[in-house]
Amino acid sequence: MYDFTIIGAGITGSLIARELSKYNVKTLVLEKENDVGNHATLANSAIIHSGHDPEHGTLKAQLCVLGNRLYDDLEKELKIPLLRTGGMVIARDKDELKTLKSLQKNAQKNHVEKIQLLDKETLLKREPNLSEAVMMGLDLPTTKVTYPWEVAIRGLENAISNGVSFKKNTEVTAIEKKPQHFIIRAAQTTFKSRYIINAAGTFAAKIAAMIEKDVPYKMHPRIGEYLVLDRRVKGYINHTIYPVPSDKGKGTLIVPQVHGNILLGPTSYHQTDLEATPNTQAGLKEIKTEASKLAKDIPFDQVIRTFAGLRATIDYDDFYIKYSKESENFIHVAGIDSPGLTAAPAIAQYVVDHLIKPKETLKKKSNFSPDYEAIKMYHDMDTKERQAAYQKDARHGNLVCKCEKITEADVINHIERPLGASSMKGLKKRARIGSGLCQGGYCEHQAIRLLAKTLNEDPTAIDYYQKNTPILIKETKVKR
Ligand SMILES: Cc1cc2nc3c(=O)[nH]c(=O)nc-3n(C[C@H](O)[C@H](O)[C@H](O)COP(=O)(O)OP(=O)(O)OC[C@H]3O[C@@H](n4cnc5c(N)ncnc54)[C@H](O)[C@@H]3O)c2cc1C
Repeated sequence: MYDFTIIGAGITGSLIARELSKYNVKTLVLEKENDVGNHATLANSAIIHSGHDPEHGTLKAQLCVLGNRLYDDLEKELKIPLLRTGGMVIARDKDELKTLKSLQKNAQKNHVEKIQLLDKETLLKREPNLSEAVMMGLDLPTTKVTYPWEVAIRGLENAISNGVSFKKNTEVTAIEKKPQHFIIRAAQTTFKSRYIINAAGTFAAKIAAMIEKDVPYKMHPRIGEYLVLDRRVKGYINHTIYPVPSDKGKGTLIVPQVHGNILLGPTSYHQTDLEATPNTQAGLKEIKTEASKLAKDIPFDQVIRTFAGLRATIDYDDFYIKYSKESENFIHVAGIDSPGLTAAPAIAQYVVDHLIKPKETLKKKSNFSPDYEAIKMYHDMDTKERQAAYQKDARHGNLVCKCEKITEADVINHIERPLGASSMKGLKKRARIGSGLCQGGYCEHQAIRLLAKTLNEDPTAIDYYQKNTPILIKETKVKR
């Protein structure tokens, strides 16, 4: 019997698991996919927002501002990358100026630190590539950028090393409520648990329907498309640039990324499908048009990739983090759309401190270790370190990914970790293999070979991304 079962290993579920791993309780995380963070946590703008735009008084505002601060702890403990870009919201006409000033008031009420209005001259001095049409900006120095899926992977791996159990490829299909516990059916097996925490992203209402007579929210997913510029454009824009928000959300942004790439996007459109993330010609065209209103001469010839993510938006104007009406042992963590990435560490604390602790006496573990031991990769080493690494492990002499300078030893280390990669995308998430200019064209075959060898699988069993997405179907040339 588990004390707590968390459904969903996106950033929300992973950080709740880590928070619970600080206590003497038995926690299980169930994930339907073959890896952590394969949905919204994988495809978003990667911004740790300051907390300027969620409406004052909402949980979104409270947990965004706190989450932003908690990322400084995660940087130290989980060794996640944080790029302190700072943010600037740009107004381009009188109407936008009005919105900018009310945004400033909202940010002040939310206690966002060090905000100020910036005039055109200062804006263009800071970012010479901004559009000449800019009139005024709101300075948001606490804005940062991270690598979202790494936060989830490292958070959950740290939770596992502190005693949490994790089962991937385990889709929850039914929940039965007993007087003292739940029986959870998943992947042809059952689990018993005293509590359930529903952190299933766009699937949260589906999970809720397994227990609620009336599901208290409806899911209306919103897709957001992106263009990715190659890291050769590094320095074109150095701050996270926002237009003033509208009823569709934050709008199309320009976001410098940790490794030098720049993201342009997202769009925002409702769809009914809970997981499809197609790119469309219209969406990509809209991004180009909207981004060009913020900055001039955007190097669109440097686009190396497009992608899209799905926001778990619900018909409730805030995060829905509450007990079920049917059972106080079932906790909904639903409607975690933007700023869910930012808020995630604060959501985890909120669930434990405000929902669980008033009902349960949780005893702190004396041996909890907050630290994740990161792999120092070849591309982060200086020449001396590279020589020493090669002496220790000759596989550092085989450069698998030439764009990102990733060696065979790096790849294998990322497969062999406790929460290691088992798919091509899993490797890309952890080691950045295939993230460069060639987008895997030169390294993918080597990565598949290393995955197959290390996992003792046939190369045709290696998936690109989700389950049943093999890259190789059969042999076409057989040596005789
Ligand atoms: C386009 C876009 C841009 C965004 N930009 C930002 C940003 O810049 N800053 C920010 O703060 N936030 C941003 N967000 C929001 C942020 O990405 C999300 O709030 C966050 O990733 C949500 O994480 P999650 O763990 O709740 O959901 P997910 O990452 O979707 O995880 C839910 C998990 O539940 C699993 N699951 C579902 N059903 C089952 C089942 N039956 N059994 C087992 N497992 C199941 C899924 O497989 C999935 O892994 C953005 C979101 C999008 C889509």
